[in-house]
Amino acid sequence: MTKNRIHNFNAGPSAMPIEVLEEIQSSFLNYKGCGMSVTEISHRSQLFDDIINDAQDRIKRLLNLGDKYKVLFIQGGASMQFALLPMNFLNDSNTADYVDTGTWSTKAIQEAEIQGKNIRVAASSEDRKFSYIPKNIEFNADAVFTHITSNNTIKGTQWHTTPDTGSVPIIADMSSDILSRPMPDIDKYGLIYAGAQKNIGAAGVAVVIIRDDMLDKVQTTIPTMMQYTTYAEKNSMFNTPSCFAIYYIQLVMKWLEEKIGGLEAIDKLNRQKAALIYDIIDQNDFYQGTAEKEDRSLMNITFRLQDTDSEKRFIEEALSNELGGLKGHKSVGGCRASIYNAITLESVKTLAGFMTDFQKRNG
Ligand SMILES: *Cc1c(COP(=O)(O)O)cnc(C)c1O
Repeated sequence: MTKNRIHNFNAGPSAMPIEVLEEIQSSFLNYKGCGMSVTEISHRSQLFDDIINDAQDRIKRLLNLGDKYKVLFIQGGASMQFALLPMNFLNDSNTADYVDTGTWSTKAIQEAEIQGKNIRVAASSEDRKFSYIPKNIEFNADAVFTHITSNNTIKGTQWHTTPDTGSVPIIADMSSDILSRPMPDIDKYGLIYAGAQKNIGAAGVAVVIIRDDMLDKVQTTIPTMMQYTTYAEKNSMFNTPSCFAIYYIQLVMKWLEEKIGGLEAIDKLNRQKAALIYDIIDQNDFYQGTAEKEDRSLMNITFRLQDTDSEKRFIEEALSNELGGLKGHKSVGGCRASIYNAITLESVKTLAGFMTDFQKRNG
């Protein structure tokens, strides 16, 4: 264990790469010899320009975005995006499809409804407590977009294939699995957004990846700060951006590209990590996975024990073994291990060892 740090399985904000934390620490007082911290320099300076451009370039390279996409940094987290999407793309004469896979999708739908927009819930997995991803959905070919949540952080489900929406662009909330795997079918996506604090950095900013044709659809009757075009035209600096949070993302992207070796490499590692825990869950019914096998998440592993008392003991004993953040979200209870990009194989092996041992002592 490095410097008395615990094995952190928090769902978000969550563990970050130790290399990034160390780099922030060592450069904090005097960034690149300028005599100031990144939180003290002007966002109009060359130093900050280099940070934001490098962060964008790295995201573009990692996801193979080409030049049709822009990378924006917007404050307000992923939740702000729930409201911005209908505001920017919907008017009195068009419509959008949403797939409801629980929690975040439900909130995104609510934000469109609050604004009185004409949207349709094309499919929902509410009938079985959002434990699966709906299949064979009939999408509206005339929709302006189809909204999905690629990974449900709370229910532990994940889309493992991109749904076929024909020519309708997909908008995806990828807050909890962005940059965790390659996206060979990126061109089906019109917009991808993610709060930074799970897989790519610290809270305070959302990354929005937007395709040029979506920028052409932005409604001009909404406030300037709400329009995606404002961020695209001003390189996310119409006003003061979340400088430190963007710097943080730059460092995590550098780590992902240079230390890990990109998305294929992280995908392999993420699959290996998830398999270690799911193998234990699948052995017998001491631990019970809450998501359908074929749809379960590689990022957030949700499971239950026999009863809430055992769960409480499991979480407490784990913590006394320096394994933290294993409590399920308060809306569902149970246990959850979030194993985002930065969670090391070593941490996951330690958790797997603890789970096996706990079962031996209590099974
Ligand atoms: C955490 C999370 C959100 C909320 O993010 P904020 O940045 O706190 O608004 C939205 N969607 C998903 C999938 C999440 O995991």
